[in-house]
Amino acid sequence: MTVSLQTLLDRSNRNMDKGTHSVVRDKALELIKRAYKEGIYVQISEGYRSHARQQKLYNQGRTTPGKIVTNAKPGQSIHNYGTAVDFFIVSNDGQDAIWKVDKKWRRAAAIGKSLGFEWGGDWKSFKDYPHLQMPNVSSSKPSKPSYGNSKVIIKEIQIYANKYYNAGLRVDGYDGPKTRKALLKAYQTELNKQFDRGLVKDGIWGPKTENASIIVYPGAKGRLTWIIQALLYCKGYDPKGLDGIFGSGCEAAVREFQEAEELTVDGRVGPVTFKHLFK
Ligand SMILES: [Zn+2]
Repeated sequence: MTVSLQTLLDRSNRNMDKGTHSVVRDKALELIKRAYKEGIYVQISEGYRSHARQQKLYNQGRTTPGKIVTNAKPGQSIHNYGTAVDFFIVSNDGQDAIWKVDKKWRRAAAIGKSLGFEWGGDWKSFKDYPHLQMPNVSSSKPSKPSYGNSKVIIKEIQIYANKYYNAGLRVDGYDGPKTRKALLKAYQTELNKQFDRGLVKDGIWGPKTENASIIVYPGAKGRLTWIIQALLYCKGYDPKGLDGIFGSGCEAAVREFQEAEELTVDGRVGPVTFKHLFK
């Protein structure tokens, strides 16, 4: 007999725990429903992960038996903030977990992405195929005080900088010169990658970086926008999301920043605004 949709939802709800962000939980359940319609049976194995559990996982293969399963210490995994889930595929009868990354698996991930998740299978440095994380929930639920305060956002920035740019930052939630320098290196990396600038990635704002700078306009999407949002958060502004989408919230924060810095207030980020953001 084919496993019922309700069974998949019930099991997943149990595995997601209370600490999973409500937006993330809802999207994960929606993913299960949509996949089910296509004959793909998805189940969530985990959502929120406590610091204690993260420590236990980190110890595995180091001080306790087993294979190493994570490099993240407590506070260094997005799961510790309740904004990620892990999924897998179950057999038609619902009895077996299937971990093979095949067409069904990739389709489930694609549905997840269409719902706003980022998929660990897209990561460059290491692939995490079961992993789906929601990058922009911090501002969508302001009622949740545990998420949305700046220390948590800075931690998220540090986690991403480590993951995407091998920044090697300590995930401590403090915006210091090291985090700022890591973001500048990330910016130089993107200028090289996207615009062939050939910059030395030294994390120093010099004339070469300034000359190589581009203008990022509202409506833009991608890593450069993510860097702008991260810089705004570090400066104490609220771009309403760390999602790489230059929307109205981000534009308003840019304008506010430009006004405070006595720059031309145009809501776009060009060389001069970048310079001030990196200061
Ligand atoms: Zn995960």
